[in-house]
Amino acid sequence: MIEDKNQARTSLSELGEFGLINHLTKNFKMQHKSTIKGVGDDAAVLNIENKQVLVTTDLLIEGVHFDLSYMPLKHLGYKAVIVNLSDIYAMNGTASQITVSIAVSNRFPVEALEELYEGIFLACKTYKIDLVGGDTTSSTKGLLINITAIGEVNKEDVVYRNSAKPNDLLVVSGDLGAAYLGLQVLEREKKVFEVNPNSQPDLSEYSYLIERQLKPEARKDIIKLLKDLEVKPTAMIDISDGLSSEILHICKQSKVGCNLYEEKIPLDPQVISTCEEFDLNSTTIALSGGEEYELLFTISQEDFPKIKGNPHLTVIGHITDESLGANLVTRAGQQIKLTAQGWNALS
Ligand SMILES: [Mg+2]
Repeated sequence: MIEDKNQARTSLSELGEFGLINHLTKNFKMQHKSTIKGVGDDAAVLNIENKQVLVTTDLLIEGVHFDLSYMPLKHLGYKAVIVNLSDIYAMNGTASQITVSIAVSNRFPVEALEELYEGIFLACKTYKIDLVGGDTTSSTKGLLINITAIGEVNKEDVVYRNSAKPNDLLVVSGDLGAAYLGLQVLEREKKVFEVNPNSQPDLSEYSYLIERQLKPEARKDIIKLLKDLEVKPTAMIDISDGLSSEILHICKQSKVGCNLYEEKIPLDPQVISTCEEFDLNSTTIALSGGEEYELLFTISQEDFPKIKGNPHLTVIGHITDESLGANLVTRAGQQIKLTAQGWNALS
C-alpha cells in the first residue's frame, strides 16, 4: 500500500504555531485582484466589487471521511480543496479564495503537514485560488481539516437548486460511479495488506476508479463550457452524495418531478467491468455512489441544440410535474420511484 516515504521527522513543537503556518504557506502566491490582504494579519481583506459573494465550508475528519492507510496526505490536501470549489462552481460561480484550518495530533511530524500542504498548493495553483487564512491547532486524536471557500458570481448568473421547471432537461457532466468503486477497490486491498503486508497489488486495471477516489477534480471547465455555449442552467447542484440524492434535492426544492432514464446514465468501461467483478449493479452504484464532484443541472429544451453531442455532457432525463414524482425509467421501460439511498432492484 501507499507508505510515507518521507522518513525525516521534525516535531511540530520545534516550529510553534506561527512558525508552522509561515513554514507551510510561504510558497503560496496571491493571484486574485480581489485579495487585498492574505495571510499575515488578524483577518484577510477581500475586495469583491459588484458581485455576489459565495461562501461554503466543509469539515473532514480522519476515520470518518478519509483513511490515511490508503489516502496519501498530498492527495488528501488536494481533495479537501476540490470538494469546496465544487460547491462554488455548482452555484455557477468563480472560486477565488480559501481558508484552511487543521487540527493535528503530534503523531504527525512537520514533514507530513508539508505533504498535506503540497496537495493544497497544487489545487490552489491549478484552480487559481488564493489561500488567505486559517488556523492550526492540536488534536488529541487524528487529523481534522476544515476548508472554507469564497467565490463570486454576477447577480444575473447565479444558479440555485430551486428553479428547475417541467420539461427542462436533466443533464450530468462526466460519468458516474467511479469514485465509489475506487473506494471499494482500496478497501479490499487494505484488507489483503492487513493479512499479508508483503502483497504488491497490481491496481492498473482500476487506475481510473482510484484516481477518481483519490484525486477528484472540480468541474470549473464545465462552468466555462456552459458560458461559452451560452447556456445558463435553470437549476444546478454538484454530486457529492450520489446522483439520486442530488436529483431529489433539485426536485424537492424546485417542487417538480422527473424521469431519469437508466440507459442514459454515463458509465466508464472500468465501472462496468468492476461492477461485474464485484457483482454489483452499475445503476445502483451510479445512483448511490458519492464523491463524484460532477455537476447535475437542468436546462431549458431550447438550449438542447447547444449541448447536443458534447462529449462532456449527457442528457439523462427530464423534469416533470411535481404530482408525477421522481422516477427511474429502467431499460425494460418500468418506472421505479427514486429514493435517496439509490435504487434497490428488489424494492
Ligand atoms: Mg454541494
